[in-house]
Amino acid sequence: MNSASTHAYDPARTAPRALDTEAVHAGRDDLARQGLHAAPIDLSTTYPSYDSRGEAARIDAFATEGAEPEGTPIYGRLGNPTVARFETALARLEGTESAVAFASGMAALSAVLLARASLGLRHVVAVRPLYGCSDHLLTAGLLGSEVTWVDPAGVADALRPDTGLVLVESPANPTLAELDLRALAHSCGSVPLLADNTFATPVLQRPVEQGARLVLHSATKYLGGHGDVMAGVVACDEEFAGRLRQIRFATGGVLHPLAGYLLLRGLATLPVRVRAASATAAELVRRLDADPRVARVHYPRVGGAMIAFEVHGDPHDVIAGVRLITPAVSLGSVDSLIQHPASISHRIVDETDRRGAGVSDRLLRMSVGLEDVDDLWADLDGALGAAADTATTGTGVAAERPAAGLGAASGR
Ligand SMILES: *Cc1c(COP(=O)(O)O)cnc(C)c1O
Repeated sequence: MNSASTHAYDPARTAPRALDTEAVHAGRDDLARQGLHAAPIDLSTTYPSYDSRGEAARIDAFATEGAEPEGTPIYGRLGNPTVARFETALARLEGTESAVAFASGMAALSAVLLARASLGLRHVVAVRPLYGCSDHLLTAGLLGSEVTWVDPAGVADALRPDTGLVLVESPANPTLAELDLRALAHSCGSVPLLADNTFATPVLQRPVEQGARLVLHSATKYLGGHGDVMAGVVACDEEFAGRLRQIRFATGGVLHPLAGYLLLRGLATLPVRVRAASATAAELVRRLDADPRVARVHYPRVGGAMIAFEVHGDPHDVIAGVRLITPAVSLGSVDSLIQHPASISHRIVDETDRRGAGVSDRLLRMSVGLEDVDDLWADLDGALGAAADTATTGTGVAAERPAAGLGAASGR
């Protein structure tokens, strides 16, 4: 909504800005001129206009191109100025023309699938592992799509005349497996490659620079960064963005303006948060790697704040044993979270498919936050010790586990 006019930043007239600068300023370039410092939150659902001839023309333009209406907003489902600030900023960070925000990451992925299916392009080629619910959405065919799962090398051969999308994650949830996006983009030919960049964020990787046409984020994770906002966003060229806005308008998966505000605020600290948490994650990886209780550690070359590891003991005991780290699904918050993918985030994926994708039953996924590295290690060390104890004594897992919240595991 009117972002072109109010959040304008003309690269031709201004020196290119580094990512850290864009994170703080993009989407806010008009504020000082308006005498504002913080971005305003516009909660209006509708907007007055005495010129209904003019409105008719603007609605026609939206219906044909999905272009953001110039001038004052029309209705909350067509677009919102606060949300548009976040979209402007995220597009700048990902290096795309546009971005379109949705109520959640799954709403964003659904809109992409619907945009393609509406052109008769229902076939999707995808590489496992994907986030559990993305896998489920495709496998269950909930939106009428048909999926062919392939290894990265099999993408080109899997393409059909009705293939509308190639979908990948790198680093992937939950194994942190990495893909060669440039090679994949080449294999896709004219079919759009969608890279889910939730784990790397634009701080560590900009998939469009490697040939992806669409970049998806669960903005619920690092972009928001504080575990208090659900959102999704697709960064892409303006042509695709127009289609996504039309789908969003017709299906209603809009982002609330308060969420848009929180996301814009989250972006300002994104580079600092991601770098700090990544440094801590790399140190934890070094310690886990050297630990005899840990069978295998997964950490991507691109870095990041997500780590995954397989334990010799019972992974459920590690989850039951943490005290500082929160045992919870989701990721990307300022505080550290840990979860067991086979039980939670990837439970909905068929067991054989899940194991085939490298999601072992002993795998744990940890989202490293901004706590002190030694405090995090002390907590992990204690939890690994609890798991190792039950493994050596061979006691029943459930019977020996202290009740949560009773402080039974004192001393750490
Ligand atoms: C969480 C997640 C999603 C789904 O996002 P929601 O905001 O939970 O709908 C998609 N992709 C990845 C990689 C995720 O981690």
